[in-house]
Amino acid sequence: MEKFIESITITHILPCVVPGKIRFHADLSVDISPLMPYLNRLMKGAIYTQKTLTLTFKKEGGLITLYPRKVAGGQIENIELAHRILNWLKGLVNECYENKDKIEPLYERQVQLLPLDVYKFLPQTNCKKCAEETCLAFAVKLIVESKSVMLCPDLFTPTYAEKRSMLFTLLKDTGYSTPSGF
Ligand code: SF4
Repeated sequence: MEKFIESITITHILPCVVPGKIRFHADLSVDISPLMPYLNRLMKGAIYTQKTLTLTFKKEGGLITLYPRKVAGGQIENIELAHRILNWLKGLVNECYENKDKIEPLYERQVQLLPLDVYKFLPQTNCKKCAEETCLAFAVKLIVESKSVMLCPDLFTPTYAEKRSMLFTLLKDTGYSTPSGF
C-alpha cells in the first residue's frame, strides 16, 4: 500500500483540565488538507469545518482535532492511549488516501456541536451570573448563538483560563466566532 503519511510525532504532553487526564500536540509529516473532506466522509460523527480546515472527533474517550499539519488531543487517559490513537489515525489517513477515488468528499459539517461538549469547558458552578439557571442551559444558548460566551464572567478569571482556552479552540474549530484578545 502506498503511504501518504509517514509519521505523526508527539511534540507536547500537557495536563488536561479534566483531572487525571492529559492533552497532547503532534506534528504530521505531510499536509493532509486535501484529504480532509474525504476523512470527513469516512468518520461518522466528526465535525468538519471547511473554513478553518479542522476535523474534530471523539476516540476512546478523547477529543481529537485534526489540522492540516497537526493533531491536538484532550481528555486522554494516558500516553499509551495517545500513541494508540495516533497509530490508528495514521492507518486511517493512509487507507483514505489509497481509496480516495472511491470516496465522495463531504464538505459540510456532519453533526452539530452538542451542549455537553461545551458544558465540559464551562465553570460548572451554576452561579446564574449569565441569567441562565445552569451552565448546561448556557451551553445550549451558546450553540444556537443566542448568547455570547462573554456573559460568563467567571470563565474569564485565571481559575478557568485553561478551560476558556480549550472552549475557544473548540468553538473556533467548529466554525463559531469567539471574542478576540483571549
Ligand atoms: S455564568 Fe458561567 S458559571 Fe455561571 S451559570 Fe452561567 S455559564 Fe455557568
